[in-house]
Amino acid sequence: MPELTRRSFIKASAVAGAAITLGRVAGAPGEQPQPAPRTSPSWTDRPMRWAQLTLVENDPGNFDAGFWLDYFRRTHSDAACLSAGGCVAYYPTQVPFHHRSAWLGDRDVFGELVAGCRGLGMVVVARTDPHATYDDVKAAHPDWIAVGADGRPRRHWASPEMWVTCGLGPYNFEFMTEVKREIMSRYRVDGIFINRWDGAGMCYCEHCRANFRAASGFDLPRTDDPRDPARRAYVLWRQERLFGLWRLWDAEVRKINPDSCVIPNTGGGAASSMDMKRIGELAPTLMADRQSRRGLMPVWANGKNGKEYRAAMGGKPIVGIFSVGLDEAYRWKDAVQAPEETRLWVADGIANGMRPWFTKFGGAINDPRWLKPVEEIYAWCHGAERYLRNERPLARVAIVYSQQTAWFYPGERGAPGGVEDAALGWYQALVEARVPFEMVHDRLLDAARLAPFKTLILPNIAALSDAQCDQLRQFVRRGGGLVATSETSLCDEWGASRRDFGLADLFGASWGGRSEGPMHNAYLRLEHESAPAHPLLRGLEDAPRIIHGVWRVEVAANAPYPSPPLTLIPPYPDLPMEKVYARQPRTDIPQAFLRELPGGGRVAYFPWDVDRTYWDVLAVDHGKLLRNAVFWATNEEPPVTVSGPGVLDVTIWLQRSSLTVHLVNLTNPMMLKGPIRELIPVGEQKVRVRMPAGLTARGLRLLVSGSTPEFRQAGEWLDLTVPPFAAHEVVAIDV
Ligand SMILES: [Zn+2]
Repeated sequence: MPELTRRSFIKASAVAGAAITLGRVAGAPGEQPQPAPRTSPSWTDRPMRWAQLTLVENDPGNFDAGFWLDYFRRTHSDAACLSAGGCVAYYPTQVPFHHRSAWLGDRDVFGELVAGCRGLGMVVVARTDPHATYDDVKAAHPDWIAVGADGRPRRHWASPEMWVTCGLGPYNFEFMTEVKREIMSRYRVDGIFINRWDGAGMCYCEHCRANFRAASGFDLPRTDDPRDPARRAYVLWRQERLFGLWRLWDAEVRKINPDSCVIPNTGGGAASSMDMKRIGELAPTLMADRQSRRGLMPVWANGKNGKEYRAAMGGKPIVGIFSVGLDEAYRWKDAVQAPEETRLWVADGIANGMRPWFTKFGGAINDPRWLKPVEEIYAWCHGAERYLRNERPLARVAIVYSQQTAWFYPGERGAPGGVEDAALGWYQALVEARVPFEMVHDRLLDAARLAPFKTLILPNIAALSDAQCDQLRQFVRRGGGLVATSETSLCDEWGASRRDFGLADLFGASWGGRSEGPMHNAYLRLEHESAPAHPLLRGLEDAPRIIHGVWRVEVAANAPYPSPPLTLIPPYPDLPMEKVYARQPRTDIPQAFLRELPGGGRVAYFPWDVDRTYWDVLAVDHGKLLRNAVFWATNEEPPVTVSGPGVLDVTIWLQRSSLTVHLVNLTNPMMLKGPIRELIPVGEQKVRVRMPAGLTARGLRLLVSGSTPEFRQAGEWLDLTVPPFAAHEVVAIDV
């Protein structure tokens, strides 16, 4: 790195360090100076179908570049990500220690592929991966290697002849900057994609130790406990280093090609370690690298990525990387997935606004079974392109996600599952209820960002600053609906407990000082007599009581709350069976607070983990409570209603001169675990669209079946029937 850049970086780090010791989250509302506006490269919105070919070291001379170029053409791929350098260089690099493929000879495999893709009119992005290196590098620059907690340099876990590099030190800041400069100078690619750039776990090398101490005053933490001040400082300092690295690389490649950028492989939802708000400010486009399902994961998880990235990226293009292989922890990187699985996974991503990106590792085709399905998916996308260029979603409901809660909140007094499980419960419930929804980042709650939404859901969003609570209060004052659960707003932005909920005034309830759980054999009494036909109890009219959750927060009403619809039946013994009878079959302790406020705002607060328990247990009664709470809080007709059998992920979008409704058929025994092996057609669906003001349907087509069913528009309502379909159907309405 040039000395000037290095000095200014260190200064930036020191400033960040001051922010840390002052106890401020870098990037918190009102505290973050706006970054200088940077222009998006002119090409970012163009590609709709990405192809990634990640070469392996012995590919040069052994793989057929012509085959791949032909495949890119046949799939109508309009952008490519191609292996260039980092751990292996696929071109004749001159950068010292940049390891050329041992099979490269005098060829320039990367250059050949770039030229071929350019011939096809594709956007071309170079892939680099800096996370591993070799003995000669370690011998010459021992300080480039990552060091473990034991003080020893780290061998690579999968390729033990290699070393893990430090992501936050000179290997990335100096060596990889040179590599990027060389790639950009030689090939003037449209961008450089940076894989595994952010270090591989904690590094205790001399640079990390010294830099962290200089910035924060602490030694590097040896605990994950967010209550440890050094850990908290590390969470922020690591990001400062990485955002600095990103800016450096981006500036350096733009000096050579102003119409380019670097694209770090980064970001995600609440659990992501990099601040999505800042990522959204920096990135002109971004790739959601969630290649496929593993373990217990619903098919809608791909769509969730789209919503999470959009929360920070707004209208910037979001690309969904999907693997053609099985992606379990055992990492069969040469596997081929069942085509039905790939088809549904991609369909759910597209329905949620992501542009597809297939990724293939290795230029040799060991198993060709994926080629045809991907070609078919891409051909469909190509034909439907006009209807996939979305302007904005029309969803009126949004789930808030909170990275600061994930980073700093030690967890609901002992409840398992972490912060994500409550959100997953909501996600599943809204999919089942066929409510189109978005996600919202908790530090992007200003009036403009929230303007499209009528209702916000806060799934145990424990860590909220006073300013964030105020923004939520204003949202309700403007007539918005709020549905919150468990310990929402009980902590400040650092995860430190408050004396009372920050939103106690909205909830109509105050923190009682303790939580109860895990509860066994607890129930809820449905108060049909004192709260007749209550909207929260819709679909439960014949149920005198239903099961409770697992963790409950003790609260006291702080405003008069007569006739609560749900009351507590406390836990009672579940063994011996002779003792299984309720000791207190009836209490007057409310387990849901529903309040209508002046100005039309509505707030529903559940002082228990209805959402987390739903994800854990999937009890249908809890699903009804969640659905009912959202419908009640929203208090308007949804933008689209879909009636018929099955589980569908329903989304609704506006394009420049059309409106689309995506119906993704998740009805499948393998919806939650294991690859889909068969697409099971879902029955006929009645679809009712609330057309945005002033829009009249001129024509209507189903983009998958190709049929043109009859439709009827009366005022703002448009009705049609969608015949049975297998993976997905898209209703395209020209307006
Ligand atoms: Zn290090």
